[in-house]
Amino acid sequence: MKPLTAPIAEIFTSIQGEGLYCGQKQVFLRFAGCNLACGYCDEPAAAKGASAAEMSVKEASAEVLRQVRESRARAVSLTGGEPLLHWKFIKALAPLFKKAGLAVHLETNGTLYRELEKLKGLVTVIAADIKLPSSTRGKAFWAEHARFLAAAPEKTFVKVVLTSRSSLADVKKAVALAAGARPDIPFFLQPATARRGGVKPPRGEFMEKACCWAAARLSRVKVLPQQHPVWGIK
Ligand code: SF4
Repeated sequence: MKPLTAPIAEIFTSIQGEGLYCGQKQVFLRFAGCNLACGYCDEPAAAKGASAAEMSVKEASAEVLRQVRESRARAVSLTGGEPLLHWKFIKALAPLFKKAGLAVHLETNGTLYRELEKLKGLVTVIAADIKLPSSTRGKAFWAEHARFLAAAPEKTFVKVVLTSRSSLADVKKAVALAAGARPDIPFFLQPATARRGGVKPPRGEFMEKACCWAAARLSRVKVLPQQHPVWGIK
C-alpha cells in the first residue's frame, strides 16, 4: 500500500511569535495548501503549495523529533497553509508526538470544523483564527467559525487579524461569536504587519475601540502584533 504523504513546505525550529504561547520555543511543521486566500497572508508560497516536498508520516515525524532532540523544544506546532486540509496525515502523526511527550499545537484558519472533529483528543492546543470578511476578499465564514469553536477543545484561543480595511462591525461579530463559544476564551487582536505596497495595520484609534469593545464582553483580551518582525527571526 502507498504510504500516506502530505505536502510539507518546511520543518524548522523557532520561537512562537503570536498568540497565547508567544515566546515559547517550538518545532514548526508547515503544511502547504490552503482553502482561503486572505489579503494579508504572510505565507503566500505555502498557501499556494509552491516548492513543497511530499513527505511520509515516518519522514516528517523523524525530522520533527530530530529537531526536538536538538532544541529541547517541548511543543510542535502544525501550521500552514491550512493544516486541517491534511487531517488524515495529522491523525497518524499526532500520536507519535504525544508519545514523545510533546504538546501538539494546531494553527488553523478555523473554518474546517468537520476535519477538526476527526482529530478529537489528538491536539493539545488550538490557535483558531476568526477571519473578518474585510480580510478575506469579502467572503464571510461566521457559520463555519461558530461550528469550529463549538467543536474545539478547552485549550483553544482565538486570533483576529486587523488591517486598515477592517470594520468595527466585523470585530463586533467576531467578539459575539467568541463570547457565544466561551466568554473566557483567550482572544487576541493582532494588528497586521505592514507590507511594502500592500497590507497596512489599522490606526491606533481603531485598535483601541476594537479592544475596548472586546474587553467589555470577553475576560481574556489582548492586543499582540506578530513578534517575528520585531525580533528579526522567522
Ligand atoms: S488562512 Fe492563513 S495561510 Fe491561508 S491564505 Fe489565510 S493567512 Fe494565508
